[in-house]
Amino acid sequence: MNKSPSNGAFFRLYIAFFSENTGMNTTALNVDPAELAKFSDLAHRWWDPESEFRPLHQINPLRLAWIDGLVPLSGQKVLDVGCGGGILADAMARKGAQVLGIDLATKSLKVAQLHALEAETAGVLYREISAEDLAAEQAAQYDVVTCMEMLEHVPDPAAVVKACADLVKPGGWVFFSTLNRNPKSFLFAIVGAEYILNLLPKGTHEYARMIKPAELTHWARTAGLDTHSMRGMEYNPFTQRYGMSQDTRVNYLVAMRKTENAHV
Ligand code: SAH
Repeated sequence: MNKSPSNGAFFRLYIAFFSENTGMNTTALNVDPAELAKFSDLAHRWWDPESEFRPLHQINPLRLAWIDGLVPLSGQKVLDVGCGGGILADAMARKGAQVLGIDLATKSLKVAQLHALEAETAGVLYREISAEDLAAEQAAQYDVVTCMEMLEHVPDPAAVVKACADLVKPGGWVFFSTLNRNPKSFLFAIVGAEYILNLLPKGTHEYARMIKPAELTHWARTAGLDTHSMRGMEYNPFTQRYGMSQDTRVNYLVAMRKTENAHV
């Protein structure tokens, strides 16, 4: 086959066109474009509480109360990594925090910004940048970093954990939530939520990408974060409600703190 030198350029042009038209940023390395596309395609529905994002709307008051109970958010400088349409970022700002939400899905960020305008939420800003790039720019600047339901969508979650650890001040708090990886979580988070109850679109979560608490706490420890506490989050299909629990086998949240004397 005739290998013209323009093939590479043509391919780059195609990628640029593709990125432009799906409203996502594919230049960062630690990102799966297919994952971003899933969220971009649904971006206009972020603030519809009956949409595919219904579970996030339902768990939001629970996770917000848990975070605010551990570190009262009023007056805190907070970063929300993988903020999507801003469901948590907006709620934290309404508690009086100064919040920056970051994501790589352009459309989601536009929706988040628009919502802040419409709802007149003070103290929340959004920016399209990866956690790793922001860490190079703003090391140890934040009192609190949250990164919810995002790690299970990235190729190298340990690098995001490290970036979150770098972004928080010594003594500051980092909160993660993700999905555990075991037979129960396969049954509940994939078979149950995506195929039986239709709580989430099919293909939302990939089993191999789900993260065991021991893996998460190991990456965190290596990055200078101590695990403070962990909670499970359970869905009751009869009441159609979520609740916090001690069972971390499916959905779980972790609170961590950066060691006081950490080098920054
Ligand atoms: N944290 C929000 C949204 C969770 S959905 C909440 O809990 O309400 C997962 C989000 O992660 C999506 O907005 C998606 O665009 C984002 N995401 C996926 N890969 C990413 C990456 N590499 N960097 C930043 N955001 C990413």
